[in-house]
Amino acid sequence: MIPGFSSAGAPQVAVIGGGYAGFAAAVTLARGGARITLFEASRTLGGRARVVEKDDHRIDNGQHILLGAYAETLRMLRLVGVRPSVLETRRLALAYPGPDGCLLRAAPLPAPLHLAIGLLRARGLGWADKRAMLRLMGRLKRDGFRVAPDRPVADLLADTAQTTRITRLVWEPLCVAALNTPVASASAQVFANVLRDSLAAGASASDLLLPKVDLSELFPVPASRWLAMRGHTVRTAEPIKAIHAEGDRFHLDGDPWGTRYDHVVVATAPYHVAPLLEPLPALAPLAQRIAALAHEPIATAWLAFDGPLAFPEPMIGLTGGYGQWAFDRAALGGPPGLVAVVISASGAHQAISKDALEFALLGELQAALGPLPTLKRAQIITEKRATFACTPGLDRPGCATPLPGLWLAGDYVASDYPATLEAAVQSGVIAGRSILKRCGLREQNLLGIA
Ligand SMILES: Cc1cc2nc3c(=O)[nH]c(=O)nc-3n(C[C@H](O)[C@H](O)[C@H](O)COP(=O)(O)OP(=O)(O)OC[C@H]3O[C@@H](n4cnc5c(N)ncnc54)[C@H](O)[C@@H]3O)c2cc1C
Repeated sequence: MIPGFSSAGAPQVAVIGGGYAGFAAAVTLARGGARITLFEASRTLGGRARVVEKDDHRIDNGQHILLGAYAETLRMLRLVGVRPSVLETRRLALAYPGPDGCLLRAAPLPAPLHLAIGLLRARGLGWADKRAMLRLMGRLKRDGFRVAPDRPVADLLADTAQTTRITRLVWEPLCVAALNTPVASASAQVFANVLRDSLAAGASASDLLLPKVDLSELFPVPASRWLAMRGHTVRTAEPIKAIHAEGDRFHLDGDPWGTRYDHVVVATAPYHVAPLLEPLPALAPLAQRIAALAHEPIATAWLAFDGPLAFPEPMIGLTGGYGQWAFDRAALGGPPGLVAVVISASGAHQAISKDALEFALLGELQAALGPLPTLKRAQIITEKRATFACTPGLDRPGCATPLPGLWLAGDYVASDYPATLEAAVQSGVIAGRSILKRCGLREQNLLGIA
């Protein structure tokens, strides 16, 4: 317990889920003086953004990119004492090496010049492509980045006469990377929100922030330490099976102490919510609504070579095959020769074997980078329900539920953003602040960090 900070009369709050949303909620609540017990089902913290250990190797379940626009995530990292140097900051660059490639890099200038000058200088894009890109950004800006009624991104691209090349090299990869949903079915409104807060915002908002530590170490582990140092409890390998209401308090099936909690934050992935809410008939319609969300996969191939590869940038685009982006992990604090190739959303790669996919990806890397060193090890991690499918007009629930005291946090909760770390953190902060407000409490500065 922090000296001078009494827990007497503090609300008892249970947070179910040790991902980015759960920890954002827990830290926010702790700053307001609530007593927190966080339950995580797995032994590893981080949920869908976590480290995976296999045969003495530590890799992430999937390569993640943060953007300069992730204001709440970056604030949370600062709050729990994470050093900014754990993120490699790069100006937005879409680099496709190879004969048919292109390089589009944001200029180090204020918006909109960073994009305009970046486009003027772009290599491998014709004037028609550049004009088309500016046309789409101009249309969105003119409409205040509102797309009403919401419709698929593909329709927006057609309405603004995008060229085949700019669609293939810029819009399709950006859309599938940000929304994890192909342009044919992705929400143009959510895509517009992402473009508004990244490409169309200040130059630093579109910066790519690439983690140099594993995803558990980036936030969940430091947040867990931060909570423990202040007398809060984080329990791993402690799955909660169900939530029961008892008067205006709650107890949890799976809580070894049988504590009565004043508030519960359900911070699990959407597909884990329904069983927890089952004993609460008032929440049956909400549980059904959340269970109705469809999901999209993300596959990450981790390829370990016995020497360095000739990456022109730490992150390059791949076209014409299965892989979408390749990351030089050696340039991001990882071991020499480690590469991550990302394939977002459903696609043709799901119809072939892992061996065939691995072989194809090696060919794609070779086409982009030239001859490759010898492959030592390969592992493909597929998260089948990586994110919800971000389709037009999606009905996402808010943090508050019809049951006072029971709150939702998670990347699927209503937000301008698709399922991302930033959406998860934002929802945790909102849930935490809503509880503090209900209790008449305010966040305090426990460490002199704003
Ligand atoms: C492969 C992949 C790549 C991605 N790439 C990016 C990217 O580049 N940029 C980006 O911003 N986002 C990316 N995302 C999305 C991002 O990881 C998620 O949006 C975010 O991690 C979701 O956090 P969350 O806290 O809402 O949920 P989760 O991370 O799912 O956390 C929920 C936690 O609850 C726990 N839990 C579930 N049930 C129970 C229970 N009954 N009791 C106790 N605990 C329970 C789970 O074990 C889990 O730890 C990616 C996701 C994946 C899978």
